[in-house]
Amino acid sequence: MRMPVLFIGHGSPMNAIEDNDYTRALKDLGRHLPRPRAVLCVSAHWMTEGTWITHQARPRTIHDFYGFPKPLFDVQYPALGDPVLAEDIRARTDGVQINLDDEQWGFDHGAWSVLRHIYPAADVPVLQLSLYMERGPDYHFAVGRALAALRDQGVLIIGSGNIVHNLRLIKWQPDAPPFPWAVEFDAWVKAKLDAGDSAALVSDATASEAGRLSIPTPEHWYPFLYSLGAADPGERPVTIFNGLQNASISMRSIGFGLDAYPSAAANTR
Ligand code: ZN
Repeated sequence: MRMPVLFIGHGSPMNAIEDNDYTRALKDLGRHLPRPRAVLCVSAHWMTEGTWITHQARPRTIHDFYGFPKPLFDVQYPALGDPVLAEDIRARTDGVQINLDDEQWGFDHGAWSVLRHIYPAADVPVLQLSLYMERGPDYHFAVGRALAALRDQGVLIIGSGNIVHNLRLIKWQPDAPPFPWAVEFDAWVKAKLDAGDSAALVSDATASEAGRLSIPTPEHWYPFLYSLGAADPGERPVTIFNGLQNASISMRSIGFGLDAYPSAAANTR
């Protein structure tokens, strides 16, 4: 069975332990997804030199943030890894040098804050792939494309970042009115997705002032390019969730290849 591809906006770590429209949308999605052999998550929070994949049987849960309440630090996501699959991905991904990580990483909150809603039982093995930060958008899109074949091997690829992510201008009230530039750029991404214009999304995202304000640093944007690359050209994007939090964070979450699962598609808005 060919797995869908997801891009999930993760926003504040607090979403990991809150109950809101967004977390309910992820829980609903999880109930309707086919069961994958494993999840391969590309998180905004693993930034490296070179491209790395977790190669650990029991990855640790990393609490990679400060100043949040204790219940967030108490969260564990005890999913297993899959070292054999990591080796297989490294061997099969043509044209991309992937390094095996035995101890550096585990699951960062970009992965577990999302996965604990989609797969609350933590019963699907999870691997993380890092972001090679010296490389530009073309590279990240190309790696996503190289990973697409994993979809036919039961691997669910999830990019976890945010399409609009400006921490310098963030408002700490989750429902603060969004900035006009955030709304503008979020809508631009939606329009390019609907038009199937991946080239513009890869090349032109920071061509506008709205884009530069939405992507002041690229780490939350790049995971989206992996999901986009792993989608088939012409594969219809389905909106899993659509909304802005904290004035400068887009929680827009998208699935490709969800048409085969009408119950999931019917629950999108
Ligand atoms: Zn983040």
